[in-house]
This record gives sequence, structure tokens and C-alpha cells, in this order.
Amino acid sequence: METVKDYFGSMVFDDRVMKSVLPDKVYKSLRKTIDEGKDLDISVANQVAEAMKDWAVSKGATHFTHWFQPLTGITAEKHDSFITPTPDGSVIMEFSGKELIKGEPDASSFPSGGLRATFEARGYTAWDPTSYAFIKGKTLCIPTAFCSYGGHALDKKTPLLRSMQALNKQALRILRLFGNTTAKYVRSSVGPEQEYFLITKEMYDQRPDLKFTGRTLFGAKPPKGQEMDDHYFGAIKPRVSEYMEDLNVELWKLGIMAKTEHNEVAPAQHELAPIYTTTNVATDNNQLTMEIMQKVATKHGLVCLLHEKPFAGVNGSGKHNNWSISTDDGQNLLSPGETPYENAQFLLFLCAVIKAVDDYQDLLRISVATAGNDHRLGANEAPPAVVSMFLGDELDAVLSAIENDTPYIDVGKTQMKLGVHVLPKFNRDTTDRNRTSPFAFTGNKFEFRMLGSSNSIACANIMLNSAVAESLKIYADRLEGAEDFETALHDMIKKTIKDHRRIIFNGNGYDEGWIREATEKRGLLNYRTTPDCMPHILDKKNVDMLTSHKVFTEAELKSRCEIMLENYCKTVTIEANTMVSMARTQIAPAIESFAADTAGNALTKKSLDPEIKCTGETELVKRLSALSDSIREKVKELEDTLLSIKGTTDIIQESALIRDNVLAKMCELRIVCDEAETITAKDYWPFPTYEDILFSVR
Ligand code: ADP
Ligand code: MG
Repeated sequence: METVKDYFGSMVFDDRVMKSVLPDKVYKSLRKTIDEGKDLDISVANQVAEAMKDWAVSKGATHFTHWFQPLTGITAEKHDSFITPTPDGSVIMEFSGKELIKGEPDASSFPSGGLRATFEARGYTAWDPTSYAFIKGKTLCIPTAFCSYGGHALDKKTPLLRSMQALNKQALRILRLFGNTTAKYVRSSVGPEQEYFLITKEMYDQRPDLKFTGRTLFGAKPPKGQEMDDHYFGAIKPRVSEYMEDLNVELWKLGIMAKTEHNEVAPAQHELAPIYTTTNVATDNNQLTMEIMQKVATKHGLVCLLHEKPFAGVNGSGKHNNWSISTDDGQNLLSPGETPYENAQFLLFLCAVIKAVDDYQDLLRISVATAGNDHRLGANEAPPAVVSMFLGDELDAVLSAIENDTPYIDVGKTQMKLGVHVLPKFNRDTTDRNRTSPFAFTGNKFEFRMLGSSNSIACANIMLNSAVAESLKIYADRLEGAEDFETALHDMIKKTIKDHRRIIFNGNGYDEGWIREATEKRGLLNYRTTPDCMPHILDKKNVDMLTSHKVFTEAELKSRCEIMLENYCKTVTIEANTMVSMARTQIAPAIESFAADTAGNALTKKSLDPEIKCTGETELVKRLSALSDSIREKVKELEDTLLSIKGTTDIIQESALIRDNVLAKMCELRIVCDEAETITAKDYWPFPTYEDILFSVR
């Protein structure tokens, strides 16, 4: 029988394959490009292309594509076949270094937020050798970055790679100061935990809202939701476990290390986590994972919902971004070390993250902002929209000791002085409390928990890498010029703790009182929605930071702001239109026929015996009629609101109008429809209810 070991990574042009099929010199040169970003020679590219093609063809591939991540949120590909005609009428399979390195998709319909004048419709894709090529179906997919001819990034990968470079540069400066002369590069690594819902295709097909928007726009609360906490880590149903097994095989073939899977809190909700890897690869892998999750579901007669809030009243889905930084020789810089010196270095990196999260709360919030995620953040199931950090009692005590020059109890009641004492091992906090924190230290990594399930993890990591690079730069600037390194280091760590203490919060992040304390006492930001936060990407301090590290140009930031807000407006508008259509053509008619039939029945009864009162029926018909009137009225109001916004030319203004007016009207319409659902006979209701959907997979 074929074992996992036999097929793991079989569809990836990974290091093992490269080593075995490339001439030694070519392999070494490519490795230098991958590890150290050295330029790639065209003759090397040609040989890599040839080898890649031969390998792909031997696996049954006929086409290749430059696979990229435009700003739409999904991945894009345009397939070309390897076939080249020969004079004798047959074909050969060809693939050149030039084709590997650069592609020119007709990209005029990808959003560019004004970056690419329409006459210059073509951008180009450029090979990212740091992420392995892979085969999907019959196509060799080459991970690429996507830029305009003016050199502007039109994708998520380009700024992500730039942010990794910025972090690398500044972190190396710090390491050198600590006497590390051997580390060649520093990279951030990520392990994203992916939540999702699985429902049957049969249910999905009957719900226009799920089909058009990915979430239910109507639906009364079922008698049983998640209140019994019986789904979390519960036994996995046979059909779901067959799905998970199949999914694992597909992911493993692509070298994606799917590791843990379990049920989540809500009925029909599950989670998949891979083993962490370099951020850039983790990002590509997560995009692929989401795609394959959906594909495999179809094969099982299921649909995988990746929306952040597919069902009201039960938990939505998030994505936890476990993030750490490490050197090429495997030293995790967020792991407390064995010696005092290593510990001082650890504390400095820790402080860099604390400072980064406080200084750039807004950018972190922005990095997870979508219409879908707005339903989740702050809804008592996910962290609030306020960014704060959890460090755990132990680490907190160490920081307090440094801040106040007081003894830290666990180290022999002596005063904490960096470079003198060995810090205790900080164990991963095992309490459940920190689950409510948006940004938690979990032993040797940080877990950023605000991401929505369908978000690309690129955006969050771009901001995180860049903000931490900025802290490190400030530290390195100071330390490189310091007369006495140890004193300067100690003072700087102390100052960071003093200046940024407000961002550290070890309590319950879901607590209403916390939001008040955070905003009123601590002055932390609380951008509740996408329109609230997104424009702040253009605040001077943010533009200055991101441009100084060459992660974005100002024009790129403007375009991103515009695209994200446009995306928000379009998403909500599509939802509103879907509601209008469902309410008008399905819900209202259903209620009206049920009311008419009920009235008819009552009349029949009365005609048999006028003494029969039919009070129940009468009351029901009255209520149903009132509700259907109300539904039709609310539909009209929603439509009018949409109309009134049409023609708003300023995208910031439009998004605010949508947030304040359209969403409110949608909410009103939903309330009356959901009430109607609870008093309408099931046979009449035009689509499956929450009960049907959430408990559909057996
Ligand atoms: P939990 O749900 O308990 O938080 P999981 O095991 O579901 O934990 O997920 C933890 C994720 O963190 C995994 O993807 C794991 O590979 C990743 N991870 C572990 N160590 C690190 C690290 N040093 N850097 C980045 N990610 C890490
Ligand atoms: Mg988990």
C-alpha cells in the first residue's frame, strides 16, 4: 500500500526534486537565489525551466500557469500549454527560462485602484523562486508576483516579500549587535489555523444567499445551536472524517503539512492547522488549502463555507496567524534562551513586537478588515476590534520587574538586570483566558487572532513584519551608536515597557468593561468596521513607516485603500440585492400563501359550524399579514436606500453610507423575515432553515 511518505510532496517541485534533477552548479545557484535573494542568471533559469517542464510532463501536466494573488482575495491563473509545433507537423513540449521568469496575463480586469491606466492594461507576473512550483490537475503552477509596468505591486505577494526583506535587514542588525556573526538571514514563519463550515450541497443549492454571498442573510435561531458546547472536539462524523482524510491526501501531495483537525464550537464547524513554515510559503499554501478544501468538499457532496459569519447566532470562522521569527540556522528569536545574553536578546525582540503592536494597532486592524470579518470582531466569539496583547502572568511579572527596578520573585529575589540573570522558561499559558486576546504570546510565538477565515494571511503578515522591522530599526539605530551596549539595552527595554504598557491586557477581551477601559482609560483605538479603519492606512505615520521600509509606495497604499473599500461596498450591495430578491420573490409569497390557506381553512371550518371561533387562525393570519406588509415595506426601504447611495463618487463616503444606512435596513428586513419563519408552517418556507443546514451532515 502507498504510504503518506510515498506521496507526500509528490506534486511539488521541491528541494528534493531540484537536487535530483538539476546539475549541481545550477542547483547551488538556484539555492542562492532562494535563500539569499541573489539574482538569477538566464542560463540557470533556462535549465530550471527545462527540468521543471520534464518533471511536470512526467506527472501528466500539459499546461503551465503563472499563479498569482491579485487584490481580489482569490488566486488567479491563466493556462498556456507547453506545446510548440515543429516543422514536420508534430509537437514538442517546450518551456523556456523566459517563460518561467516572466508572464504577461491580460490583467485589465483585475482591480488596480487607479494604479494602472486603462490603456496600459497589461501588468506582468514574475516568478517567486522562494515558493515551490506545484502541479494542480494537469497544470504546472508557478508562484509569481504581479506588478504593473510602472513597477507598482498589484498583488499581495510583492509587499509580503518586501516586508520579509525589511524584517530580515533590521533583525540581522540586532543579531550582529549581540555578537551573532553567522546568521545569514532572518525570516518570519507562520502557522495559520483555518476554520470552516461543512454543509451538504443539497442544502446549499436551495439558498440563494449562500450561493451569492457565502453567508445566510436570513434564518431564525434553531432550537439548538452551540449552547451545549457538545461539538467542540466532539467525535467527528463519518462523512466529515472521510472528507478530512481525502483533504489531507490532496494537501500532502502538494507538500502542505496539514497536521491537526478537529471540530470547532459551532455545529458543522471545523478547523485545520498545518505545521508552520516560512511566511511566504505559508501564505501560498493557505490560499491553496482554501481552494482545495472547497474542491474536495464538492467531491463529497458537501460545500465548504469559508465566510467569516455564515450563520447568525453561532460562532463565525476565523484564522489564527501563529507568527514567529527565526534565523536560517533555526534559532527562534521569540524563544527565551538558556543564557542571560540570549534572554536579553529575547526580551529585545519581545519589546520590538510590543512596540510594533501598540504603534501600529491601526494597521493590524486594517489588515483584517473585510465586510465579512466586521460581523465577527467584537461579537463575543472573536477578539474585539480593539487590538491588545496578552503576555501571560509570568512574562508580565518579568516585564514589571524590569520596568520598576523591583525584584523578580522567581529569580532569587534579586533585581532584574539584563545580561545578568537567566530568565525562567516561559511556559505556554495553558489557561483558557488568553483565547479572548487578539494578540497572544504562546510560549515561543505570537498568535494573531483577528483574521477572518477567508482572508489571505498576506495582509496581516505584511503589517506585522513591517511594524516589527520599524521597532528593530529604531533599536538598532540607538544601540549601534551606544557607548555602553548593556546599559543602553537595559534602558531601552525599560522604556519600551513603560511607553507601551497600555497595549498589554491579560484579562477577558470579550468583556464589555474592557472596551471602555481600552478606549477611555488607555486610549487604544476601536475601529469597529472596515469603513472606520481603512482610510487610516493613509495616515502620515503609516505611510511614512511603510514607505521608508519600501514595503509600499504611497500610490500603492492609496490604491489598496480604494480597492478594499470598493470591495466592502460591493460585498454589502450584493448582499442587500440578494435580500431584496429573496424577500420579495420567495419569503413574502410564501407567507402570503400560508396566510391565505390558513384563512381558507378557517372559513371552511366556520361554514361547517359558525360556532367554531377559529381564534388561533385569525390571530395567525393577522400577524402573517402584518409581517408580509412589513416585509414589503422594508424591501422598498432597502431598495430606496441603495438607490440613494448610487452616484456617490467618493468611496470613503460611500462606504460610510453603506455601513450606516444599508446595513441597518438589511438588519430590519431580516428581523421581520426571521419572525415570519418562526410562525410559518415548514412546508411553506421556501428554503432550508438553520436547523436543516447546520445539522445536515451526518
Ligand atoms: P492551538 O489551536 O492550540 O492554538 P494548533 O496546534 O491548532 O494550536 O495550531 C498551532 C499552530 O501554530 C500550528 O500551525 C503550528 O505549526 C504553529 N506553530 C507552532 N510553533 C510555531 C512557531 N514557532 N512559529 C509559528 N508557528 C508556530
Ligand atoms: Mg487550533
